[in-house]
Amino acid sequence: MPVSKQAVTIIGLGPMGKAMVNRFLDEGHPVTVWNRTARKADDLVARGAHRAATVEEALAANEVVVLSLTDFEAMYAILKPAETALAGRVIVNLGSDTPGRAREAAKWATAHGAGYLTGGVMSAPSGIGAPESFTYYSGQKEIFEAHKETLEVLTGTDYRGSDPGSAALYYQLHINMFWTTVISFVHSLAMARANGISAQEFVGPASNSMTDMSAFLEFYAKRIDNDEHPGDVDRLAMAEASVDHVVHTAKEAGVDHALPAAVLELIRRGMAAGHADDSFTSLFEVFRKAG
Ligand code: NDP
Repeated sequence: MPVSKQAVTIIGLGPMGKAMVNRFLDEGHPVTVWNRTARKADDLVARGAHRAATVEEALAANEVVVLSLTDFEAMYAILKPAETALAGRVIVNLGSDTPGRAREAAKWATAHGAGYLTGGVMSAPSGIGAPESFTYYSGQKEIFEAHKETLEVLTGTDYRGSDPGSAALYYQLHINMFWTTVISFVHSLAMARANGISAQEFVGPASNSMTDMSAFLEFYAKRIDNDEHPGDVDRLAMAEASVDHVVHTAKEAGVDHALPAAVLELIRRGMAAGHADDSFTSLFEVFRKAG
């Protein structure tokens, strides 16, 4: 007799939620879905998902309820009117928000008799189900362990402890780097296009320099942990001159220069704080003091 797969509810059918529903369906899990814009479920229903008519029905359908929503405001907008249906459910919130909001959400869900896990998905929708993809999780260990196997249908798991804010924190640490990196990529492409170079011509060299980044990050991470920022490899004064050249390259190309100008401003703050002859990593101290 085939073992029946755990049934799950997914609330939120943006690109990520849809990828998750498709993956569970592909793996033979019964799936109930609910989305504010109901028509977004049409193709999933055609593939065998069950469309809940109400949020209460979606919650009642299954113990495991995965949320894939833009932010926590969306979660409260959907679940607060259905609070009485939360008891006995395990809410797995895979939407982005701050660690503090994740902690508040866990308290709120627990107060209504639900289990709660925070998740930070480290993959694009296309990576759902791919062996190399993973998601940070945190929250009560027993709840995580009890549902790990089902969650691993979506991605690998990296459990970061009982603090519900922890997975959200790890996620935001990555996403901070993600957005600044991809937006600088797009900015460089705008400068490239202004000079007759296509994105496809530049993507190879750009990817190579990203690959080289890991050794660079590891080298500086050790020094940062030791609060050492010697200017023996790079100096902030050099960075100022260098980033100023980027600003002017953008200007010459007739391209917006707000992004490198913001970096330049940070570097100048570091220099004003006395770090001109230190490494760019001395900005670590500037960031910490500003907080
Ligand atoms: P979207 O923002 O496209 O999806 C949003 C979902 O939230 C939709 O179902 C939308 O409903 C719902 N929603 C938003 N606001 C409200 C509201 N006020 N009330 C009710 N429903 C609301 O996000 P994605 O699908 O791309 O991603 C989902 C989560 O996963 C996000 O938190 C994102 O940061 C995270 N993530 C996304 C990745 C990606 O590459 N897409 C990668 C890693 C993480 P409706 O359809 O009615 O608008």
